[in-house]
Amino acid sequence: MQPAPSLNIDLLILGGGPAGLALAIMAARSRLAVTLLERSRYQHPRTGETFGGELAALLQEVGLWDAVRNVPRLPFRGQRSSWGEFAQIERNAMFNPYGEGWHVDRAAFDQALASAAVQSGVNVLTGCAATSVEPADAAWSVQLTDGQRLSARYVVDAGGRDSNAWPAASRPGQWVRMDRMMAWVARLGAPATKPEPVLQIEAVQNGWWYAAPQPDGGLLVSLMTDVDLLAAGPRETLPAAFMAALAESTHTAALCAGARLAGEPWAARADSGFRHPDHGEAWCTIGDAAMACDPLAGDGVVRAIRSARRAAQRVSQALQRPIAVTPEVDSGSAYPPLREAFIEFLHQRARHYAREGRFPDSLFWQRRQPLDLRAARIFLDPQSRLVCANPSPGPQSLAHVEALLPYSALRPLLARLREPVVAHEALAALRAKAPLEDRRLIVAVQELIGLDVIRVLEN
Ligand SMILES: Cc1cc2nc3c(=O)[nH]c(=O)nc-3n(C[C@H](O)[C@H](O)[C@H](O)COP(=O)(O)OP(=O)(O)OC[C@H]3O[C@@H](n4cnc5c(N)ncnc54)[C@H](O)[C@@H]3O)c2cc1C
Repeated sequence: MQPAPSLNIDLLILGGGPAGLALAIMAARSRLAVTLLERSRYQHPRTGETFGGELAALLQEVGLWDAVRNVPRLPFRGQRSSWGEFAQIERNAMFNPYGEGWHVDRAAFDQALASAAVQSGVNVLTGCAATSVEPADAAWSVQLTDGQRLSARYVVDAGGRDSNAWPAASRPGQWVRMDRMMAWVARLGAPATKPEPVLQIEAVQNGWWYAAPQPDGGLLVSLMTDVDLLAAGPRETLPAAFMAALAESTHTAALCAGARLAGEPWAARADSGFRHPDHGEAWCTIGDAAMACDPLAGDGVVRAIRSARRAAQRVSQALQRPIAVTPEVDSGSAYPPLREAFIEFLHQRARHYAREGRFPDSLFWQRRQPLDLRAARIFLDPQSRLVCANPSPGPQSLAHVEALLPYSALRPLLARLREPVVAHEALAALRAKAPLEDRRLIVAVQELIGLDVIRVLEN
């Protein structure tokens, strides 16, 4: 059999959400040959549907406004939240310097960007993914699920949080996963009372609800919780379980009164995390694939477009000279890693979640309410020897430590300490998995000592 002919391109983008599509359009307008792989056909509903006023300004700045101006939308006139107290507090978009934003049907928004990408000359392959991405001579050799083979000088991973769009066998970097947040989402039909065009948020025992009006008159409603706190059960029971959970809320249930499910509820990952490292000479990650934040931040699409804009510059600079096609990190890179931005996000997250004190026994809230890092005293002797005293601590005892330390680093730390390890070596190993501030890591280990999960051995 003849091997399939190979297509030579400048840029391959893995993932067609707002980040990947915005980059594709900008790069094609700079006359690069671009192919974008999107595993879906935009046929399923998506979350991430409420945009602040700054998105319109940003889209105009990067020349994408025309691509989405006809997407059906409702105005987003503000936010109403019950957070820290039962009463709802209103923040009106009137006081936003950019004015009001929009509530959109997010699948339609992404689809509109995909059509604009095609019109700009991007080769958009939907229903398609990469099965291998390997360095070969001066380009990446990429095998696609449809049997095609590509040769690309630069590859960008835009596959969303903890992206698997770049196949694991050669995927560079690691996903530093801070928590286990999931969104349990459903679309509802029109409620009895027409909703105002505001985003509604309500903190509850095991997480928080949000509800956004949709252009078709219905609502998109989601419970944000942790995967181990999510009601599990056979698929056929989930619609009733979702409606039962909704009925336990107060403001959200009132908003949704009279509305029926429009399709099955679905679960989506919503953990915060970042890829480390996030770029090399001939590859980078963008959007949520580079850094994903708690949806409470509400600015994921703005961040995705901004990161596409930075990447457009990076790619065009990189392609002007011969580049090393390797998954290795570019040590002389002019671009800072995302670590600092993620640390800043963690401080902001702690400030937001600290404002809710009504559920002190809830694992969900404890896991997001760390102790004050600056006030904590450091007492750990770097030469002391540490050993794990309890390899399977209960979720309750670890909750506050999880607020400090990435979930993806905690279990490996305890596994490493099955044998005694000198403290500074244990911390160095921890930092490799959790590249965050030194103080955060030391304080977290001290907390584990206080909980008798880790023990300091007498010399
Ligand atoms: C519940 C929830 C609510 C949110 N609400 C808001 C909000 O109101 N406003 C806001 O601005 N942000 C919100 N966000 C965040 C926002 O959705 C994201 O930040 C934004 O979508 C990131 O865009 P992206 O292009 O980086 O990734 P994504 O939008 O995740 O796009 C990734 C794309 O890659 C594709 N893909 C995945 N794997 C593969 C593969 N193997 N091969 C090929 N393609 C692949 C996916 O199909 C998808 O099209 C919310 C997030 C969640 C979870």
